[in-house]
Amino acid sequence: MTVENYKGNIENASSDKEKINLLIKEVVKRAQEIQPEIKALYEDFHENPELGGQEIETSKKIADYLESLDIEIADSHVGIEKKDDNDKVISTGTGVIAIVHGLDRSRSVALRADIDALPVDEDPKNSVKSKKEHLMHACGHDIHTAALLGAAKILKELADKGELPTDVVLLFQPSEEKTFQKESGAVQMIKKLEELGIRKNIEAFFGQHVTPSFEMGKVNIKEGIQVASSGEIDITLKTKGGHVADVYEIPNVNRIFSEINTKLYDIFEPLFKKNQSIVANTRVDYPRGGYNIVPSEGKSTWVVRISSENYKKISKDVLQQIKEVVTSTVEKYSNKDEVSVKIDTRLGYRPIVHRDPALVNIVRDSAKQVIKDATLTDNFLAAGEDFSFYPEDFRGKQIPGAFAMVGSANPENGFPIMNHHTNNFKVDPDVLKDMASLHVAFVLNHSIKDKSA
Ligand SMILES: [Zn+2]
Ligand SMILES: [Zn+2]
Repeated sequence: MTVENYKGNIENASSDKEKINLLIKEVVKRAQEIQPEIKALYEDFHENPELGGQEIETSKKIADYLESLDIEIADSHVGIEKKDDNDKVISTGTGVIAIVHGLDRSRSVALRADIDALPVDEDPKNSVKSKKEHLMHACGHDIHTAALLGAAKILKELADKGELPTDVVLLFQPSEEKTFQKESGAVQMIKKLEELGIRKNIEAFFGQHVTPSFEMGKVNIKEGIQVASSGEIDITLKTKGGHVADVYEIPNVNRIFSEINTKLYDIFEPLFKKNQSIVANTRVDYPRGGYNIVPSEGKSTWVVRISSENYKKISKDVLQQIKEVVTSTVEKYSNKDEVSVKIDTRLGYRPIVHRDPALVNIVRDSAKQVIKDATLTDNFLAAGEDFSFYPEDFRGKQIPGAFAMVGSANPENGFPIMNHHTNNFKVDPDVLKDMASLHVAFVLNHSIKDKSA
């Protein structure tokens, strides 16, 4: 059955909710029909992986496919300019922003897929495998890209039949795996959405991550904080060093760091016990020296993972406490200016915070409608994800978001339970139709959010 055949039923449906439910049933059928097409897209992306910021061919394929569907592309070069070793520009950005216009053009929902791969050598036993050495889609972003392209096709068909209630913004985002805010593709996309005037109409962001540690059918989404923030703080101390015989007379960075570590662990352990954060270091690095040499410098990196919605204040307090302990301990064991202190911070990703419980419910309802035998869970996850930036305040405006982890293991069919970023990473490609349907169902259910509330 096509969308057109279904229209009669939709017109007779007595309520908006009923209309949407009928449409979603049709979407599920349509996703099943186009599964071979989106699977072929996925296989092509999987065989031709590209690293973050260098997704040139991937980006072209995405734009070509969208163009073939007659979908409006707002920008296909979002991101940071990339140069080769000879300073020649090889890419002017690889992110793609496209819009499917619905009936109400003053409202929109944004759907996001990340498109980058990882520097991993793929296990040659994988049946669909990378053609490139030391490059692999080991996080499933190829699945995300293909699923969103499938959703784009269905959304455009709905729009052409006059059945798409609102605009839908499609975000094919580069550079998710970069770990630091400075290089995050999400941040580039948000800036571009604002610059193009598209962000002002967006009412919700929705993203999905394929998850081979869960079986097919399982969808994880949690109210409040779902994924922790990440970041690092480096403490570097430099002094003149010297002979062990003088250790009580000269500044001893080894002793200073010992005391700093003890004090900081004492300060941050209660936060961990309250489930608010992990602030910890694993070692202090000194230059190689002899047993009788007091080191002239040392460096210690503290990892900061905040798992509280109050993460901004906690992050600031953590940095302030580290600064105070370092300064007071250095003063205790050295005279003025004998030890130089440097404290550097590297901002990682924000935590993913689901501030609007209604969106979480929309994802759950949608999952139940489109995924066979869906089971819903609400676990907190320790992984980092730059989807986290979309629902954060940007230029004074915060837009809610929802991020679902979609189970994709199917041990009976040769897709065992496993973790992300492994060289034998694989998922059941049957999950593509589910993820494509979930994107579209999210849009449709969201369009009646306030009416059904
Ligand atoms: Zn990853
Ligand atoms: Zn990922």
